[in-house]
Amino acid sequence: MATCAEPSTEAERLTAHLNTAAKCGQRASITGTVSSQIPALAAVPATKFAMAVATVDGALLHTGDSAEPFSIQSLSKLFALCVLLQQCPDAWLEIGWGPTNAGYGSVADLERNNGRPANPFVNSGAIVVTDRLITHRGDPVGATIGLLRSVDPHAAVTSDARVALSETLTGHRNSAIAHVLAEHGVLQNPIDHVLQQYFGQCAITANVQTIARAALFLADRTGNNNPLDEASVRRVNAVLLTSGMYGAAGDIAYRIGLPAKSGIGGGIVAIMPGRGTICVWSPPLDRDGNSAGAIAAIEEFARLARWSVF
Ligand code: GLN
Repeated sequence: MATCAEPSTEAERLTAHLNTAAKCGQRASITGTVSSQIPALAAVPATKFAMAVATVDGALLHTGDSAEPFSIQSLSKLFALCVLLQQCPDAWLEIGWGPTNAGYGSVADLERNNGRPANPFVNSGAIVVTDRLITHRGDPVGATIGLLRSVDPHAAVTSDARVALSETLTGHRNSAIAHVLAEHGVLQNPIDHVLQQYFGQCAITANVQTIARAALFLADRTGNNNPLDEASVRRVNAVLLTSGMYGAAGDIAYRIGLPAKSGIGGGIVAIMPGRGTICVWSPPLDRDGNSAGAIAAIEEFARLARWSVF
């Protein structure tokens, strides 16, 4: 006789973990604060919460506001980097791969290193990625949206002009970074054009299901139909682990043990090589600028599902 006590299939087990983890994340979200760095995002309700898990076997599990697009902000740095690596696998030489404790918007760090960004996930490195995408692809925003839509061509992914304009009017720090890069001869394209594309790229909106599925190629170990070569996949995951969560990278490696990327819109995407991806959206951020609820949800899911690279 069938009992309903224990989930039997892998998908049922993961669904149970997802629901437990989402509750945990929602509870933790009250400890954070919604970012006001970009004025147009300051009014996003703190109670929004969405979580999706995509597996390499094709399962897609989700809960909460998982159909609602949100501002992916720095999650876009991951996808833009991968678009560039498709064309230029050696782009690392220009954008760096080392960790830094300086904060993602540090002008001083860039100055100290003579205009060499630390890695592609701090703003200076991401701005160089955007610059090179202008050179190689012409349209960085369109190319990044293309990668986000690669699994589902009908996915709702756009760039929110209101958010891009809001950051254009207030993004003095990013403007300073672009000028320092130009001063050191690092940019190949006009500063204003690079910034316009960078802000447009950060203003991309997508939901957690789309992001979890679009990031699956980073969990893929088969090499089949992967937009990136194997070495690039390994390197991207390594640099996500050391730099994707900014100053909290060591803490996240210790607590969770998964490569992950965060954005000030409250999104985090985490990769479990060989198994799948997790994407959570919860707007309130902790002191490191990472979503408090998303970290808690991913930590709980990874613990229950025993997802860790270690
Ligand atoms: N658009 C923001 C910036 O460039 C993104 C920062 C983030 O999400 N961490 O500062």
